[in-house]
Amino acid sequence: MKIHEYQAKELLRKFGVVTPRGIPCFSVEEALKAYETLGGAVAVVKAQIHAGGRGKGGGVKVAKNAQEFSTFVNQIMGMQLVTHQTGPEGQKVRRLLIEEGADIRKELYIGMVVDRGTQRVALMASSEGGMDIEEVAAHTPEKIHTVFIDPMAGLTDAQADDVSAKIGVPTELIAQSRVLLQGLYHAFDETDASLAEINPMVVTGDGRVVALDAKMNFDSNALYRHPEITALRDLDEEDPAEIAASKFDLSYISLDGNIGCLVNGAGLAMATMDITKLYGGSPANFLDVGGGATTEKVTEAFKLMLANPHVEAILVNIFGGIMRCDVIATGVVEAARQVKLSVPLVVRLEGTNVELGKQILAESGLPIISASNMADAAEKVVKAARG
Ligand code: ADP
Ligand code: MG
Repeated sequence: MKIHEYQAKELLRKFGVVTPRGIPCFSVEEALKAYETLGGAVAVVKAQIHAGGRGKGGGVKVAKNAQEFSTFVNQIMGMQLVTHQTGPEGQKVRRLLIEEGADIRKELYIGMVVDRGTQRVALMASSEGGMDIEEVAAHTPEKIHTVFIDPMAGLTDAQADDVSAKIGVPTELIAQSRVLLQGLYHAFDETDASLAEINPMVVTGDGRVVALDAKMNFDSNALYRHPEITALRDLDEEDPAEIAASKFDLSYISLDGNIGCLVNGAGLAMATMDITKLYGGSPANFLDVGGGATTEKVTEAFKLMLANPHVEAILVNIFGGIMRCDVIATGVVEAARQVKLSVPLVVRLEGTNVELGKQILAESGLPIISASNMADAAEKVVKAARG
């Protein structure tokens, strides 16, 4: 799960991480008031969306006076912000963080992720912070220093100070940098984060080490232990179809093709998308209904797929192992009736009671196209989608 920059900063402040003073705002009026509260002069208008690269996309602007500030607030609030992480359609800006301007001397990079290989949290740090860190990783990876953190010892003073020196934190500020790095690690550890990134961490003209940006993601499997983090979820930032799917315990990911796929098992769902591609088609979604698919779940799955206006045909690919094909077939027929299916439906069933399942489909009176194997199913659904 992702949260906004202002939420991450609020959380990190509780762990001793220094950030600029800032006020989250939900309207232009609130933002103008926040400018006064911060004391005027230099203030930064920051779009709050769950994607990075906001600066380059025009979602972060430094205002030198009240007039500039008002211009930027009106520009950014409500804009459709496009960054390299949002996709071409962008994301609507509904929240702003209004922050005091920092006098930046150096922009450094700090990131933490869970490293599966070493089973530790990896701290990555670089002297080349700011908006081009992807370039640094791609072209000069030697400028990124990695430290693996022992879960028993935590991030030690020696590790923190060594990495701070390597990325060019001035000697007299290494103690401040240590507070920030260790605070970040405590926050990461205690909240079951999967990613934490301070880019940039800056050294200011008045000799402070400050987190100027903050990004945190959390392990969804651990959210049951953190109601205070779950409460930070912003549904406006999530795909409505995926939110609906999660209510019915369906694993659903929107894609940009025109063939709806309904499959049981994630592996089979991946294979189904692959073979659809192989036959020249393009999946509209990944959808795993899981092992114990009920009629209700299958119906909801159909509703989800059909709510996508790009879907021109549906492929149901079920392997009845524990699940019986006749039960699935009944579910598919029931669901197709309930949603008044308007696009061609190709069904491939295999496994326990497959003959009975096929008979139920055939006798349903619905225009279901039956397929005998995966290749046959893919070929038929691609043809059906082309009309
Ligand atoms: P993003 O990573 O999404 O582009 P950032 O929060 O990192 O957004 O902001 C982009 C850039 O804007 C930073 O690298 C920094 O140079 C500048 N910036 C951000 N916040 C401030 C601030 N409070 N004061 C001065 N400059 C800032
Ligand atoms: Mg940033």
